[in-house]
Amino acid sequence: MPHYYVKPENIFKKHFVVKGDEAYHLIRVLRVRVGQELNLFDGTSKLYTGKVEEVKKDEVIGSILEAKAGFLPKIPVTLYQAIPKGERFDWLVEKGVELGLKKIVPLYTERSVTKDISDSKIARWQRVALAASEQSGRPDIMEVASPMDFFEAIKSVPEKALAIIPWESEVTETVSSAAKKVGNLSEAHIFIGPEGGFTGREINSSVAKGVIAVTLGERILRAETAGLLAAILVLNLAGEYGA
Ligand code: SAH
Repeated sequence: MPHYYVKPENIFKKHFVVKGDEAYHLIRVLRVRVGQELNLFDGTSKLYTGKVEEVKKDEVIGSILEAKAGFLPKIPVTLYQAIPKGERFDWLVEKGVELGLKKIVPLYTERSVTKDISDSKIARWQRVALAASEQSGRPDIMEVASPMDFFEAIKSVPEKALAIIPWESEVTETVSSAAKKVGNLSEAHIFIGPEGGFTGREINSSVAKGVIAVTLGERILRAETAGLLAAILVLNLAGEYGA
């Protein structure tokens, strides 16, 4: 059964209404029919079972059969990631949704090659996130934030959160040893550098702010692999993936 996003303002107690572009997708792409049941989500973590009652030219009206709370990832994890070249960020956004990230923040670092991300690119990543949320059955939508400067981003992390910065020169500290230092794992923030790596200044400032430098093993990973691996390790420690 399709898992379909409907804006919260279009879901009412007993019915839902879809208009415009969203209706176009339902009518022309998914080809819904009267009587068909749909899984709906409104991005606020609620899930609904809906039944199509009426299909007009550019509007679909249906009834809500059931509403329930969906499962959110065990802890909110934010990934701050220097933007790799080309399409690789699209791929990262899609995988981040599947794995259960709360938010991805594109990061401008001292060695970033890409430093001018347009609003239209962010809008595209947000569409990728929405499509991946529909595909993966998430009850919420992973957020793709506006780009942040690295030094601003490390300042914005709340004190009690686990904050890690995977760094290829770190040898002893791991994701799990860093998590033990913080204790109660209630939220996590992960900082990943560009292909050229972080500068010494960036690592020093992070450590001064309480961000813990960690290793992700012996091999040098591509930035997007490093981001996803760090996210998986943190979410696994929080008990995601049935661990
Ligand atoms: N230019 C660097 C590698 C950068 S890889 C070099 O050749 O040494 C891009 C980012 O991925 C890094 O900034 C770091 O955050 C992360 N990363 C990649 N491999 C890693 C590893 N083995 N341990 C920790 N972090 C790693």
